[in-house]
Amino acid sequence: MDEICTEDLSQFDNRELGIAGRLLSTFAIQRPDFLGDDISLKCNMVSGVVFLVDECFNVGVLLDVKEGDPDKIGQFIKCPICNTEGFVFDLDKHGNDCCRYYLVNMGFIRESNGGDDDGE
Ligand SMILES: [Zn+2]
Repeated sequence: MDEICTEDLSQFDNRELGIAGRLLSTFAIQRPDFLGDDISLKCNMVSGVVFLVDECFNVGVLLDVKEGDPDKIGQFIKCPICNTEGFVFDLDKHGNDCCRYYLVNMGFIRESNGGDDDGE
């Protein structure tokens, strides 16, 4: 996994450097609480995703915000069962049952907002 991700800024293209700059500026203003110690800036050279990762492999990525809105960092998650990747709300909305189960299990979301059945 490490060979497709690099911390070497000389390997980042201009677009990725721009994202890295925004990511760090955003991080300086609002440090997300899901990121702990030993945080580094990396780029996935396959997908072009620039992200912050801590010692526990929690990953923070810039969220798509509306033009003019301040940048935000969202937690990026990979479902260990089906390998679907996305932000918590993406996996919650568009993921499979296993993804939702994982999110609930890890404490990212609560058991379902609908409450249309008596629980299982
Ligand atoms: Zn899944």
